Amino acid sequence: MSVWDDVVGQEPAVRVLTRAATAARRGTTGMTHAWLLTGPPGSGRSTAARAFAAALACEDPAAIGCGRCSGCRTALAGSHADVTLFTTEHTWIRRVDVEPLIATAQRRPSVGRWRVIVVEDADRLNETSGNVLLKTIEEPPPQTVWLLCAPAVDDVLPTIRSRARHVPLRIPPAEAVAELLVRRDGVDPVMAAFAARAAQSHVGLARRLARDEGARIRRREVLRLPQRVRGVGDAVIAAGELVDIAAEEAGASTVERDAREKAELLRALGADGSATVPPAVRAQVRQLEEDQKRRARRHQTDVLDRALVDLLALLRDVLVVQLGAPVELVNSDMTTEVRTMAGAGTPEETLARAEAVQLARERLAQNVAPLLAIEALALSLRPARRDD
Ligand SMILES: [Zn+2]
Repeated sequence: MSVWDDVVGQEPAVRVLTRAATAARRGTTGMTHAWLLTGPPGSGRSTAARAFAAALACEDPAAIGCGRCSGCRTALAGSHADVTLFTTEHTWIRRVDVEPLIATAQRRPSVGRWRVIVVEDADRLNETSGNVLLKTIEEPPPQTVWLLCAPAVDDVLPTIRSRARHVPLRIPPAEAVAELLVRRDGVDPVMAAFAARAAQSHVGLARRLARDEGARIRRREVLRLPQRVRGVGDAVIAAGELVDIAAEEAGASTVERDAREKAELLRALGADGSATVPPAVRAQVRQLEEDQKRRARRHQTDVLDRALVDLLALLRDVLVVQLGAPVELVNSDMTTEVRTMAGAGTPEETLARAEAVQLARERLAQNVAPLLAIEALALSLRPARRDD
C-alpha cells in the first residue's frame, strides 16, 4: 500500500515526485518550492498532487508515502492541518481567493515538516491574482511547497510557469484505469475495460460510466447525434436535447449539495428553523445562491464539453474505419454504428465534422450560450448534399 496507489499509469511522474519527497526528508535545502503538474482532464492531476502532499506529510520513518500513517491518510482525505487544497467554481481565480492562500503559505507547518498548498485549475489565475501569487513563489518561506495543477503548461501564465518545476502527466493506458476500477471500486472486469476505453482513460468518468446506468444511456444518446441530424429541424431539436441532457446531468449532482450548503449556512448564521430568511442574513444567502448558480453553469459547460469529447472520439473511430487504419476503436460497443457512418461519408467530411465539434468546444470555453454553440454544431453535422 502507498499514497500512489490511485495515481495510475503515471510511473515517470511518480518517480520524480517520490525522489523529491525522499530528498525532502533530509532537509529543506534543495527542495523545489513550486511545482506545476499538468495533464489532460481525468489524468489524475489533483490525485497526484494530493499523493505528493501525503508523501511529504508521511510520518513513517521507514517508508515515504506509506499510505497508512495519519499524515498520509489525512493528507489524502484533505483534512491534514498543513495541507491546503484550493479549487474554484469561478472562471478566474481572483485576488481575494489568492490572498488567504498567501497568508497560509507564510505560516510554519504545525504538525509536519512541510506546508503544502495545492492550487487546482492554476490556468484560471489571471494577471492580477497571478502576480500576487508570483511574489510568494519567488521568495517562498523555507517550509512551504506550492503544487499548481493545470491542463497544459501553455495554459499557465508565463511568469508563474517559469518559476515552477514542471511534471507532466500523460493520459493513462486504458488497461491501468480498468485495473484501478476493479481494484478500488469493485467493478466487474469486463465493465471496467469497456468504461475505461469509452471514457478515453478519464478516471472519474470511467468510474461513473461503470457504475451508473444513466450515464451509459446519456452517452449513447450523445453519440447518436450525428446519425439523427438530417435537416435543420432535426439539428435544432437534437441540440436542445443535448443541452437538456447536460443540464440534467449537471443538476443531478448539485441539487442535494446546494440544499445542504444553504442549510449549513443558515445554521452557521443562527437562522435555521425560521420559516423565512431573516433580513440580517439575506445578503449572505443571496451570495451563496449566486455562487451556486455560477457553479451549476460551469458544471453544465463541463458536462457538455465531455459530450463533445465523446463525439470527437466517435468521429475519430469513423475516420479510422474510413482510412482502414489498423488501430482499435475507442467506442468498441458501437462498431455497427461506426461502420454505417464510415460508409455514408468521406474522410474529408468526417474531418470537417470533427473541426465543427472542436469549434463548439472553443465557443463553450469562451462562455457562448450553450444552446447557440450546440445548435451551430448540430447544423454543421448535417450530411453533405450529394445532388450536385
Ligand atoms: Zn505515511
